Amino acid sequence: MKRFACGDVVPGCDAAFTAADVDGIFAQVAPHAATHGISEVTPELAATVRGHIRDV
Ligand SMILES: [Zn+2]
Repeated sequence: MKRFACGDVVPGCDAAFTAADVDGIFAQVAPHAATHGISEVTPELAATVRGHIRDV
């Protein structure tokens, strides 16, 4: 399983996501990013998120 804590990228956000794989994480992060006013997951943002995904 993979885990991503949004607070690692957006200080103060306590949202965290777990999924079977990285694609599953992004499927949850994309709509969540919209709550931060981020309408598009750019390659740069995707790389940042990827760098904070941990194996659990
Ligand atoms: Zn967040």
